[in-house]
Amino acid sequence: PEAGMTPQPKPWIMAIHAYVPGKSAAADGRPLIKLSANENPLGTSPAALAARHAAPLPDVYPDPDAGALRRAIAAHHDLDADRIVCGTGSDELLNLAAQGFAGAGDEVLYVRHGFAVYDIAARRCGATPVVAPDRDYGTDVDALLGCVTPRTKVVFVANPNNPTGAWIGANDMRLLHAGLPRHVLLVIDQAYGEYLDAHDDDGGMALAHAHPNVLVTRTFSKIYGLAGERIGWATGAPEVVAVLNRIRGPFNVTSAGQAAAIAALGDTQFVRRSRDHNAVERARFVAAVENLAEQGLRAVPSKGNFVLVLFKGALQAETALQAIAEAGFAVRWLPQQGLPHALRITIGTAAHMDAIMAVLRHATDQAA
Ligand code: PMP
Repeated sequence: PEAGMTPQPKPWIMAIHAYVPGKSAAADGRPLIKLSANENPLGTSPAALAARHAAPLPDVYPDPDAGALRRAIAAHHDLDADRIVCGTGSDELLNLAAQGFAGAGDEVLYVRHGFAVYDIAARRCGATPVVAPDRDYGTDVDALLGCVTPRTKVVFVANPNNPTGAWIGANDMRLLHAGLPRHVLLVIDQAYGEYLDAHDDDGGMALAHAHPNVLVTRTFSKIYGLAGERIGWATGAPEVVAVLNRIRGPFNVTSAGQAAAIAALGDTQFVRRSRDHNAVERARFVAAVENLAEQGLRAVPSKGNFVLVLFKGALQAETALQAIAEAGFAVRWLPQQGLPHALRITIGTAAHMDAIMAVLRHATDQAA
């Protein structure tokens, strides 16, 4: 074919490395137990499952405004439904935030080892991703503010952060917001917000209520166990929400998803059980990793439903990944995110965690 006769993708699109999802099978196709995507090992709330089955049939479009779901979210979180927008997972909302407020010549800022979607969200609207230095795998507010330029339009902070589990408190979040120029949109990504202890609040919701340049995003994919339904939501000033409403998909949350999410919000017992399970198993796993400190293992302190384990001794992360796969589990190795020496392991059931701990003990012995 003649040169120039084929569709030419935009160069900034070709600079994107497609998101690498957590694996669910070994290289030979053998299925693995998935501790690689931060899903809920307790499954889905039975009430949400029932509501999903009772939802309107799929021959009609869903409510385009997810009105009942937004009102349920508003009631649950003491928010205003007019300040809420739902998305096809919070991924859609992160992308829309970048697209609505940044473009060619602008910068989108986030911290090193931040959530992988931020880079894609920045590039796909033609903006330049800028990566601030981290502090021990977490957000360093001063370093982040030090990277702000007149071109910065959007700042993403995942809190807790994926893949590191790091979290900043309300004081740091306030300092970050106060240090940003008023025209910069601060997106506080609270995908793991429901896993926090009751006394841990980063103040994001209050900032989003009080200021026109803060957007908080949440998801039903994690503690609510609805990752397969793809439901996220965001809250911010009405002007910001209106921008996202202009560019979102018109029917971006399915009827089944809306119904399931409303029921999931109401099943506070399931959420509590999931949070408690996570806290117990995460503490037990972190203690087991700390027992291998002399062998060079370290757990980054985590507020999420996963732990980033660093391998600084004889046992390498990639070798541990293989050993864990041989035992039947998929976990996350993230060399492309600057973490070739680490594995991110989702907190599974007690039996899953026993198995992973046994593999790590055995593998460190073997490597010694
Ligand atoms: N933000 C963070 C920090 C995440 O880890 C994830 C899920 N990996 C998301 C957003 C997106 O989740 P979803 O699109 O399923 O809501």
